[in-house]
Amino acid sequence: MLPTPKHRLMAAHVTDPALQPIERKVEEGIPLSLEDGLTLFETRDLHSLGRMARAQKERKSGKNVYYILNRYVNSTNVCYAGCKFCSFAVDEFKETDRVVRMAADQVMSKALETGTNFNQIHIVGGHDPRQLSLDYWLPLMRRFKEQVPHVQLSLFTAAELDYMAKRHRMKYPELIATLKSAGLDNVNGGGAEIFAPKTRAKICPNKVGTANWLEIHEELHRQGVASNATMLYGHIESLEDRVDHLIRLRESQRRSPGYNAFIPLAFHPDGNELNDCGWTTGLDDLRIFAVSRLMLDNFDHIKAYWMIQGLKICQVALHFGADDMDGTHGSTDEEMIYHSAGTQSGQYVDDREFRRLIEEAGYVPVRRNSTYDEFPHDWTPPPATREEVYA
Ligand code: SF4
Repeated sequence: MLPTPKHRLMAAHVTDPALQPIERKVEEGIPLSLEDGLTLFETRDLHSLGRMARAQKERKSGKNVYYILNRYVNSTNVCYAGCKFCSFAVDEFKETDRVVRMAADQVMSKALETGTNFNQIHIVGGHDPRQLSLDYWLPLMRRFKEQVPHVQLSLFTAAELDYMAKRHRMKYPELIATLKSAGLDNVNGGGAEIFAPKTRAKICPNKVGTANWLEIHEELHRQGVASNATMLYGHIESLEDRVDHLIRLRESQRRSPGYNAFIPLAFHPDGNELNDCGWTTGLDDLRIFAVSRLMLDNFDHIKAYWMIQGLKICQVALHFGADDMDGTHGSTDEEMIYHSAGTQSGQYVDDREFRRLIEEAGYVPVRRNSTYDEFPHDWTPPPATREEVYA
């Protein structure tokens, strides 16, 4: 196709000429190829990359940037999977003083210790044979739904669901239907790591494989349970692995729509076997948000998760394609996965701070729940719910 006057005008803004045909494809809604993705990762023209991603973000969600009032709990750190990048898991027999394995009452009281004005409980944990079972989870999920029915249950990752299915000798559809009947609203995006088989085999050989991770999410969507997706970057993966990962997610979303957000997770090196990979850089972090936004044309949201890249990078990421900053996490001290691996982020962000950062970036802060229903920032749960909780 010959360049139109509009395309010639666009070209005047693009310094790296390799970006020009890619920008045209994005404008015309044509999915980007593996080669396009590599070009985006390799360009030195970060400003044009950011401008292209910001334009795509605004086509998707306008001026809105989302955040959620939520609570975050890691209910067990006992795990037998042995992922090389993990600093969180413990051997329950060799590291007895580090074991965290919460009783159901502890999870409830952690979630509710600062009140009930939140819209999501986010819980993930290790592959713990004593906790990752339906006997533990079904009653706990029903208690949440009885006591705080306005709170969406954002539980597990596909890796945990795969483990639970094996434990109970259940097929994925049966397990998912059982969890949905107890109130499961959303499954978290973790466990995706890197889909490229050779790299995956090196970093997490005992975890759910790529095909099963994707199949679990596609079955969740078929049954009406929402989910998110992640990618762990900044370790031994290649740029090809990153683009391959994004394309596999894009194809999965086409086969069975239901992913809400994509969340790039930066590798953290403290206390794990891949520590010689070091830390990701600010520029690499920004590039990931932009390339994700441009590659994942059928994902509505790209999340800049302050716990991972830090609040300051995440605010800048709003100009590189991100439209979500995740949640407050409550005032607990419960996030252990990234704090074990050396994150410098705290445990809690006040929702006023989210609004300040988003407005300063020129966007409109919007409070949401797991499935992106929107709420006024000062929404509170119905009084009857609170009376039930404190009865
Ligand atoms: S990343 Fe998850 S599955 Fe892997 S060792 Fe850590 S807790 Fe276990």
